[in-house]
This record gives sequence, C-alpha cells and structure tokens, in this order.
Amino acid sequence: MTLAHPGERPTPLRIRHVQAIPLNVNVNLQAGGVTKPTSLSCVIVRIDTEDGLTGCGFTAITEEEVVAAAINEIAQPALIGQSAFDTEKLWDRLYWLLTPRGQSGYGSHAIAAVDVALWDLKAQALGLPLHKLLGGARDQVPVYATFGFGFLDDEQLAAAAAEWVERGFTRLKMTVGNHALQRRDEPRPLSAVIREDERRVRAVRDRIGNSAQLCIDANCSLDPYHARVLAERLSDCDLAFFEEPMTQNDARALADLRRRAPMPIAAGQNEGLASRFAEFFANGSLDIAQPNVVITGGYTQCLRIAGMAQAWNVSIANGGAWPFHNMSLHAGLAHGGFVEYHSVAVKVCEPLFRNLPTPERGWLTLPDAPGLGLDPDWDAIADLAKRPLSRGTGKA
Ligand SMILES: [Mg+2]
Repeated sequence: MTLAHPGERPTPLRIRHVQAIPLNVNVNLQAGGVTKPTSLSCVIVRIDTEDGLTGCGFTAITEEEVVAAAINEIAQPALIGQSAFDTEKLWDRLYWLLTPRGQSGYGSHAIAAVDVALWDLKAQALGLPLHKLLGGARDQVPVYATFGFGFLDDEQLAAAAAEWVERGFTRLKMTVGNHALQRRDEPRPLSAVIREDERRVRAVRDRIGNSAQLCIDANCSLDPYHARVLAERLSDCDLAFFEEPMTQNDARALADLRRRAPMPIAAGQNEGLASRFAEFFANGSLDIAQPNVVITGGYTQCLRIAGMAQAWNVSIANGGAWPFHNMSLHAGLAHGGFVEYHSVAVKVCEPLFRNLPTPERGWLTLPDAPGLGLDPDWDAIADLAKRPLSRGTGKA
C-alpha cells in the first residue's frame, strides 16, 4: 500500500494498472449429434492494485476492439491512482466520461467491464466471495440451459433439447426470430420466419414432452405485430417466458404484448442504463427484468435495477449469457432469479478461467474463493489475444 503524506489518508486498493484485452474465441459446439464451429468475442479487463491484487473484468456481445480502446484510452487515465473500493465514485466518473448524455452502446459495455473488475477486487480485499459481499442470499443458483440456436435444424434442435434434459436440466431456452428484421430484404418475410419458429418450437416440445420448461428468445429481431402473432400461435406450448420479442425493446409495445400474450415477457439484457428499466417498470412492460452485469453497467448498476424491480414487483433473471459473472448477483440478492447456462458462452469461458463451477441437476454452486472466484488463466488469455499482456509491473 502506498504511504500517505502526514495527515493524508492512505488509499486502500489503489489502482496502478488497467488493461483491456479484446478476444475473439473460437469454439466447437457439440449439440444434437453434430459439431458446429462458432465463435464469440469478449473483452477481459485486468486491473492491478498497489496492494498486489488483480481484478478481472469482462464484457461481451459487442465490438471488442472498440470497447477495449474505450477502456484503455479513456477509462484507464481516470482510474489510475483511485481506490477500487470506491465503486460509486468510479462508476459516476466513467458515466460522465463515456455516456454523459444518456448514450449507451459501447460506453456501457466498457463501464460494465471495469465495474466487474472493481467488485472482484473489493471482494478479494475483504476475503469474501462476491455473492457474500452483495448480500449472501444463497450459495446456489438455479440455472436454465440455452441450447437452441439458429444453426441447428429441426432434428438437431430436438435432439439437443433431449440431451440437456438427460443431463438433469428442467429449464431450457431456444432462439426464435433468427435475424428476421435484419435479413428481411433477402427477401425473407417475417411471416415465413415465424412459421418456421412455430415448427421448431413444436419439434422441441414434442420431443421433450413436459419434462422441462421451455423459453424462447427473439433477440429483438421481430416487429411488435409478428411478435404478437408468434406468441399467440405458441399459446398451447406452455412457454415459461418470451425474451426480447421485438426490436428496440419498445417499452409501450412490450406492455401491449404482455397484456395479450399467454406467456411471461422478459427483456433488458442489452440495455446499458438503469433509466431504460425505469421506463419498462413504469409502463408495465415486463414480467421478468434481465439486467446483465457484463453489459448493463456492472454490479453497481445492476444492484440499482434489481432494487427497482423488487419495488415494482417484477422478477429478475439472467438473460444475455455469461452465467459465471451473473451468478454472484443472483446469489447475492434475495430477489435473485435464474441464471443462464448458455452453452456457447460457457465454452468461451472454459479456456479463460480455471475454476468454473459445473451445474448439477440444474443448480450452480458458487465458488468459495474471494472475489468472483473464477481464477483467470492470464497466460491462456495472452495466447488467445496473440499479443503481449502487460503485467502492470511499472508504476503509473
Ligand atoms: Mg437473450
């Protein structure tokens, strides 16, 4: 710890080094009897303190090079010399630097990645697993498995669902919509996309029967009309929720869909600021709010959103993947909900972290180690980055 001048308080957890590392991780997904190569990008943030601790932050589902540049070139100078304990102060500082007029997008991803590293450091310094620091509501969280991707055909999809049920999972999620609005000029009418969705959902439901809950996620790819038609056509499929049904996460149109749809409506994983959730709650848009700690401004902002959700009597759950970061939030809070065991995201994390818990019978047990407890493999991360990783040995 740095010595303070006489009369000056020492700065605990003084930050001396910040580095964001953009990665694009290739994985082979085995599902439904086939192996599919795919990839996901992410950003790892390393923050070292003068106390000798290292925090590891993370964000994903974004442009990794842009977010890493925002952290390395804009956030980093504002963090050096500050205390990692001061998460409110630093979150506010980064907000005014990166999203000062309520913009979201890349800036919110950058704030999230830094904030995750700061909470990792705080919990390590206190010798506590992060979920204990956040409130310690439980040591295990229920998970659902995201198995159903657009690159699987009907038979592969149904077989993949059956495999997860055999592994003891009783909650499953599959995608619908399949880039419908983005690809409408191919031409590929939305009416054809949702007919295909109906067929695929029924193929899965027919295969697994009532052995598992089934959820669908349109990734904001439909317009409000086709989201409503799809919800109505699937009314007999006993769906546990319909996630991000429409483009723009439109608060009023979501509220309208929620009044008509036979299944609960979920959204929020892609939102950068808590004010968007305030809009959802005030409009009655959601049954389930899904702030994601690696996207929605880290633990600092997700705690605010979770508090709002509880006051509005809205459930929270993890959407947008990254279970090993979101599990601490949902274990920490009494209001916590399901965590998304997203099969591709889990594969991406496997080479990056050494201490990933494996779900048993649909439950993840939180690590006992202080901080996030994930034990990042910095050598493997440097190899994947194909660039030298500075260890922060120099003084800032
Ligand atoms: Mg989603």
